[in-house]
Amino acid sequence: MWSFGTEPEFQKELEWIDTFVREEVQPLDYVLGSQHNIHDPEFERLVRPLQKQVKERGLWACHLGPELGGQGYGQVKLALMNEKFGMSRFGPIVFGAQAPDTGNSEILAHYGTAEQKERYLRPLLDNEIVSCFSMTEPQGGADPTVFTTSAVQDGDEWVINGEKWFASEARYAAFYIMMVVTEPDEPNPHRRMSMFILPAETPGIEIVKNYGFYGEPDDTHAHLKLNDVRVPEENMLGGRGDAFVVAQTRLSGGRMHHAMRTIAQATRAFELMCERVNSRTTKGEVLGRKQMVQEQIADSWIELRQFRLLVLETAWLADENKDWKAIRKNVSAVKAIMPGLLQSIASRALHLHGSLGITHDMPFAEWVINSFHVGLADGPTEVHKGVVAREVLGEYAATDAKFPSYMRDDLAAAAREKFGISG
Ligand SMILES: Cc1cc2nc3c(=O)[nH]c(=O)nc-3n(C[C@H](O)[C@H](O)[C@H](O)COP(=O)(O)OP(=O)(O)OC[C@H]3O[C@@H](n4cnc5c(N)ncnc54)[C@H](O)[C@@H]3O)c2cc1C
Repeated sequence: MWSFGTEPEFQKELEWIDTFVREEVQPLDYVLGSQHNIHDPEFERLVRPLQKQVKERGLWACHLGPELGGQGYGQVKLALMNEKFGMSRFGPIVFGAQAPDTGNSEILAHYGTAEQKERYLRPLLDNEIVSCFSMTEPQGGADPTVFTTSAVQDGDEWVINGEKWFASEARYAAFYIMMVVTEPDEPNPHRRMSMFILPAETPGIEIVKNYGFYGEPDDTHAHLKLNDVRVPEENMLGGRGDAFVVAQTRLSGGRMHHAMRTIAQATRAFELMCERVNSRTTKGEVLGRKQMVQEQIADSWIELRQFRLLVLETAWLADENKDWKAIRKNVSAVKAIMPGLLQSIASRALHLHGSLGITHDMPFAEWVINSFHVGLADGPTEVHKGVVAREVLGEYAATDAKFPSYMRDDLAAAAREKFGISG
């Protein structure tokens, strides 16, 4: 079965989300700091009542499947919802769908023990706490096989030492999920690391500095040092050497949610650009009447629709296959296109607003920077293009013949023989 339609009941929910995000959630972006600073009294006052409304409507934390205690909406519906959440910085957290907590809750639900679920997953899903996911190290992010932060067993504890980099939201997190080398002698580099849960208050965790980038209200990406950090052995998440498998469980869904939120941001840029070119007059006519401007509008619309189709197809495949690994070509393709799409539409919107477009009063520069964010976080574009190419090429067999099998003369001879044509 193939359909581009949305069930009428769910469409009503999407319309409710759209209005709610535009009218109630977007204004928060202008008055609050980091959306992860849940202990800010103003967060309590302004965000909690909105979260309550979302919970009452049954739209809270929809990312977990029914087998993991969630609503079981599936990736297509989640994609359509994230397309609305992404219109506001606070959209995801108001709906209990913010990264990195979504991915962390997914892996806790998959691999957590009953005790870990009770202590970390339940309050995380209720947004009583927020969390951090820490893989990247100062010496390398795109290549996890170079990570050196290590844990050594000492009785019934593990002792962790090393450094981590760009651990987003570490300063607000109640716990970190961290990828650490536990099997240094394992020949397979993808079996050398295990995943641990580190409560934030554990002695020895040092935030060296929080880094920020243009457009973010606070600096929230931590450079961490781990100085003899001791965690009990029950804080391992998954088995020894399983860190890559555990990490993959969270990354694909996260990439898709980023993609839909990117569509939201690009759509917003597109809407503002259209309003402006229909309004601004130059040399006797509105900008929208000029062909070179029309080309930018047309290209933006076409790029958006193409990207959205690929994202929805990938979400649909995820629902059909229930196996991210089987569809990683699609997921990496989505991840690889996403930064360029946002960059080109946000840049056109900026440019068509003229000098006003470049000012702090417009959101475009933030969105252009955000296009670099989505091109780096969860792996740089080049790495994902590499995955697409390897997967695609894996579908084609090589031959050892000197000339290709599709030389015209050979094909013509075979065709003549097939149809009994002589000469
Ligand atoms: C906003 C943001 C939030 C993040 N949050 C987190 C977080 O919460 N937790 C966490 O662990 N990490 C986080 N990261 C880190 C992110 O995962 C890394 O930035 C990413 O994996 C790239 O690693 P790197 O920054 O060390 O760049 P490098 O690995 O040094 O790569 C630099 C550049 O080299 C090129 N390159 C790299 N590999 C290849 C290749 N195979 N082929 C061709 N070119 C290549 C690319 O142009 C790449 O951008 C975040 C990053 C950003 C930007």
